[in-house]
Amino acid sequence: MQELTHYINGAHVKGTSGRFADVFNPATGEVQARAPLASTAEMDDAIAKAAAAQPAWAATNPQKRGRVLMEMVRLINRDMDKLAEALSREHGKTLPDAKGDVQRGLEVVEFCIGAPHLLKGDYTDGAGPGIDMYSMRQALGVVAGITPFNFPAMIPMWKFAPAIACGNAFILKPSERDPSVPLMLAELMTEAGLPDGILQVVNGDKEAVDAILDNDTIQAVGFVGSTPIAQYIYSRSTANGKRCQCFGGAKNHMIIMPDADMDQAADALVGAGFGAAGERCMAISVAVPVGEETADKLIEKLVPRIEKLKVGPYTAGNDVDYGPVVTAAAKANIERLVQTGVDQGAELVVDGRNFNLQGYEDGFFVGPHLFDRVTTDMDIYKTEIFGPVLSQVRAETYEEALGYAMDHEYGNGTAIFTRDGDTARDFASRINIGMVGVNVPIPVPLAYHTFGGWKKSGFGDLNQHGPDAFRFYTRTKTVTARWPSGLKEGGEFHFKQMD
Ligand code: NAD
Repeated sequence: MQELTHYINGAHVKGTSGRFADVFNPATGEVQARAPLASTAEMDDAIAKAAAAQPAWAATNPQKRGRVLMEMVRLINRDMDKLAEALSREHGKTLPDAKGDVQRGLEVVEFCIGAPHLLKGDYTDGAGPGIDMYSMRQALGVVAGITPFNFPAMIPMWKFAPAIACGNAFILKPSERDPSVPLMLAELMTEAGLPDGILQVVNGDKEAVDAILDNDTIQAVGFVGSTPIAQYIYSRSTANGKRCQCFGGAKNHMIIMPDADMDQAADALVGAGFGAAGERCMAISVAVPVGEETADKLIEKLVPRIEKLKVGPYTAGNDVDYGPVVTAAAKANIERLVQTGVDQGAELVVDGRNFNLQGYEDGFFVGPHLFDRVTTDMDIYKTEIFGPVLSQVRAETYEEALGYAMDHEYGNGTAIFTRDGDTARDFASRINIGMVGVNVPIPVPLAYHTFGGWKKSGFGDLNQHGPDAFRFYTRTKTVTARWPSGLKEGGEFHFKQMD
């Protein structure tokens, strides 16, 4: 059995706590490796080493830091197939989807090459007689990221690339379900020229996370995962005086207006609802057609598309639509929720229960499900299922459909499908959700914009990647300077007026 490691000061280091987590191959159900779970002492040691390395890195000019990331881009492209294979093997997603996971992280690394520009400060010449004023963005010191299982390449890169570009040292605590790709990325950063200690990967569970939250050296914490843990991490980090941004769960609604192109809407729903087995925080899990006729037409278009979906292991070729879910526990939870849907009176139009894949009976595969006539009091509507389950909620009017999305506790992503610009514009303007698609089902912003949900999908006041990341990972210092002509005036005992 392969024993995974931590990555400390540029080298793989075995865990010493004696505690491990099983890492499964979700397609076969086999345990393929075990990941060490760091103790508080191991985490504190990694943080202390990062703190020792960080000042020299912060003093390295931003162009040189950018060049490390430039080389990282080359190395990731060189190793794309290897990274994608390792990712699929532990996560279960298809190879093309795994490459997308790497690619969306890579794009943030590319953006961060622009650190010299993004870190430029402000300058006021002549703020007063002989007085100049300037602001600079400085690194925070040692910062940390705690990341989820569902994007084991993309989200770690969203966190560490900007943090490191800003001159911080970074402690990455990846998901214990699929830690291999984060470890590979850390190796590549060393190969790209990053000094030892600036990117430490420490595997672990709650003990390692709490060690981060309680360590005084850690200046900022970025988290992505489920909402209860996001809330917990946000409160504990901020109570300890740290800067913190936490992104949580989702229940993304897609509104389908009667004038929408129904084939386009159905294709979009199938991809966004079932891609990656629904294990995406931007997956569409609720379809809200406006009008009975639209709803009936949509069901008619969806059913054959869903029934045709090819579910299988990533090794079965690139025409597989989605793979297994991540663990047996995730599978059991999805099946439990599907049962509540049936018990609470939703109409199960496509029944993926008892899905069986020959040769992979022990894998964590879940068949696709489509529910119609779902109502807002049902568990399948209120809860994030994080599986291949699409629910249709029927609305009579646009206002009613808008209200469903607005009233849900989550506010990560949403979409509207329509040909009417006025409706689309009204929707984008009024909706209380962070990321909005107009005829785009998964509106994940590109690297140079920012990513973040509202309501219970996001805690903290800045988004991930784009310019916000450079604000989150730096603090501003403002200098007021007066040179000899001013000093000749002698002592000043009152606040100087800038006149
Ligand atoms: P999770 O909350 O179980 O785990 C996320 C991280 O928190 C992991 O590193 C895990 O080790 C750690 N953790 C788990 N339990 C903890 C505890 N009790 N105390 C301290 N740390 C703990 O989430 P997951 O299952 O890995 O990921 C799926 C969730 O992430 C979904 O809810 C999904 O919507 C969400 N997600 C959100 C976004 C976003 O940007 N909003 C993006 C991706 C995933």
